[in-house]
Amino acid sequence: QIFIPLNFLGFVYREIRGSLANIDNLFALLDKVPKVLDLQDAPALQLTSGHIRFEDVSFHYHSDRPILQNVSFDIQPGHKVAVVGPSGAGKSTLVKLLFRFYDPNEGRITIDGQDIRQVGQSSLRANMAIVPQDTVLFNDTILENIRYGRPDATDNEVQRVIELAHLSDFISQLPSKERTQVGERGLKLSGGEKQRVAIARALLKNPRILVFDEATSSLDSHSEQLILQAMQSLEKGHTRMVIAHRLSTIVDADNIIVMQQGQIAEQGTHQELLKHDGVYAHLWRSQQKQHPQDNP
Ligand code: ATP
Repeated sequence: QIFIPLNFLGFVYREIRGSLANIDNLFALLDKVPKVLDLQDAPALQLTSGHIRFEDVSFHYHSDRPILQNVSFDIQPGHKVAVVGPSGAGKSTLVKLLFRFYDPNEGRITIDGQDIRQVGQSSLRANMAIVPQDTVLFNDTILENIRYGRPDATDNEVQRVIELAHLSDFISQLPSKERTQVGERGLKLSGGEKQRVAIARALLKNPRILVFDEATSSLDSHSEQLILQAMQSLEKGHTRMVIAHRLSTIVDADNIIVMQQGQIAEQGTHQELLKHDGVYAHLWRSQQKQHPQDNP
């Protein structure tokens, strides 16, 4: 229960920090914090297969500036769907709506046929996990930081996900192994290590729906490889939405949604989009020039 809110605190914190430059009173700041309420006696989400649908979703943070316009797509149970597009296209906003930090202004989002506005938020978030770009670590041991994924997990269960998330080598070199303190008053983790902690948390939680927000900052290729391997442990049986910056990580996606200025510019598999020779094919070619080693 605590995992999603804590990860999203990072999300909200970054937004608030980003807005601090422009605001000078607390009320404007409070206004940034989402206030989506549950309906009275809202039933719990009945998750059967993990089928996600965005139906004609439009959304704005401020009425004078539309962010998403008539966005419709499907994520079939167990499928991996990637969302790509330039900065500001609305990719993270899709995730915020899926976790119901805001409600769409028009259209609806359903999971297994249930409008997510009609179900209790805690049940919605209990069935989902996010591996964010920037993982929040607490002043506690690495073991406890991972256990946030499922607070009642046993030490053995935590050990297992440490291995699956490819954190064992890193942890074995720490002074007090998994009991080493991390966070502000302890060890600082690199971006790649933090993301693997987030993957370990998600593995422990083992939700049906998983969102992976790929880090924009470039990781070294060893670190990126470890993350990709760790993600593979998470792949089976989950419905996945991946916000991708490096197209090489999503060539295997069942569907790739290309966002541009709040709208879906095109969608299809990697091969279909290359054949279509549109925005995606252009992006792909320009990334190939920058990172020719990524050619799968
Ligand atoms: P990036 O790849 O840089 O993360 P993105 O495609 O995920 O970008 P979003 O973060 O969804 O884009 O942002 C879409 C637009 O919405 C941007 O123009 C952004 O400035 C704006 N935006 C995002 N969050 C807020 C907010 N809380 N209030 C107002 N505008 C916002």
